[in-house]
Amino acid sequence: MINPRTAARAQSGAANDLAAAASSSSSSSSAPAPRPPPAYIDIGANLLDGMYRGKYQGKKYHEPDLDAVLSRARKANVVAQIVTSGSLSESRQSISLCSQPGKEDLYCTVGCHPTRSKEVAKHPGGLKAYMAALDELLTEHSKHNGGRVVAVGECGLDYDRLFFSTEEEQKPVFEAQLDLAIKHRLPLFLHNRNSTNDFLAILEPRLEELKGMAASPTPAHRAGVVHSFTDSREEMDRFLSLGFYISVNGCSLKTEDQLTTIAACPLDRLMLETDAPWCSLKASHASAKHKGHYGQDWKDIYEPAAVKREKKDVAGNEGKMVKDRNEPCAIGQVSGVVARLKGADVRQLAEVCERNTRWVFGL
Ligand SMILES: [Zn+2]
Repeated sequence: MINPRTAARAQSGAANDLAAAASSSSSSSSAPAPRPPPAYIDIGANLLDGMYRGKYQGKKYHEPDLDAVLSRARKANVVAQIVTSGSLSESRQSISLCSQPGKEDLYCTVGCHPTRSKEVAKHPGGLKAYMAALDELLTEHSKHNGGRVVAVGECGLDYDRLFFSTEEEQKPVFEAQLDLAIKHRLPLFLHNRNSTNDFLAILEPRLEELKGMAASPTPAHRAGVVHSFTDSREEMDRFLSLGFYISVNGCSLKTEDQLTTIAACPLDRLMLETDAPWCSLKASHASAKHKGHYGQDWKDIYEPAAVKREKKDVAGNEGKMVKDRNEPCAIGQVSGVVARLKGADVRQLAEVCERNTRWVFGL
C-alpha cells in the first residue's frame, strides 16, 4: 500500500513546481499561459548513475546535481519514477534514496542485472546467499509492506555483452529472481538483449505463477514489463501474447524497423521510460523526424537548455542539463514520438501509459 499522506505530499510538490514553471514563463512574455503538461511515470530511471554525481567514466566533471534533475522532472510533470537497481548494493542504495524526505515520488526495483551475474558467483555464499540478501530487502521494503520497492529486477539475459557475464552465469541468476518475484508477488522489470529464445524458455514455465492468477491476493499483480525494448516485431508479439508489457525509450526508436514495431504495440500494453542517463533521442535516429510532436510550448520542460559537462559548474549554468546525459524530464520527447507513431494525442497516450504503469506496479 502507498501511504496516502506521502502520495498527496509528492503530488502537491509536483503541483507547486508546475505552478512556479507556469508563472515564471508567463511573466516573461505576453504569450498565452502554457497548457499544463500531461502526467508521466518514468519506469526506468538510473538515478544512482555516477553522471548525476558529476562522474563520467571515472572522472569528475561537476558537482552532484541529482536534486536539480529531480526538480526538472517534476516541472515536466513526471509524477513518479522507478529507480533501476542492477545489483545487491545498488538495491540497497536505491531503497535509501527513495526513502529520503522529499523523494516520495521515487520507487525502485530490487534485483541483479544479467551483466552483473558474475558478482553473484563471487559473493560470499554464492547465489544462495546473494538471493537471500535480496529476499531480505524485498521482505522489508516491498510496497506490500509499506516500502518503496515495486518490482524485481532489472533481471533477464544479455547476450550482447557476454564479456561481463557468460550465458551460464546469467541463467541461474535470472531463474532465482523469478522465485523472488513469485514469493513477493511483485512484477518483473525485464532486460533482454539478443537472448529471446533462452529468455522465454526460462519465463514460460513459470508464467502462471508469475501472473499470480486467481490465487493472488493482490489484484494489481501482473507478470511484468520488458524494458528498453529493442527487439523485432515478432519478438514483441511473443512477449505480448504471454501478457508482458513493452516499455519504450530513445533506444527503442533508432531505426525505421523499430518505429514500425512500436507503432504496432497496442496502447494498453505500452509504458514509457527514459533509461536516463542513457538512451536519449538523437538527431541521427529515425525518431528525429517525429521529434517535437508534443508541441513547442512544452519544449522548455522536455528539452531544457544543456551545457557540456566541463562547463556545468560555471556560474550561470546551475539550472542547465548536461549535453548527452539523459534525464527523466525528457520523457515527453519519447511520448511525443510514440504518440505520433500511434496516431494518438500526446495527452491520451500519456494517460494510457500512466494507467498501465499504475496497474502493473500497483502504484
Ligand atoms: Zn536494461
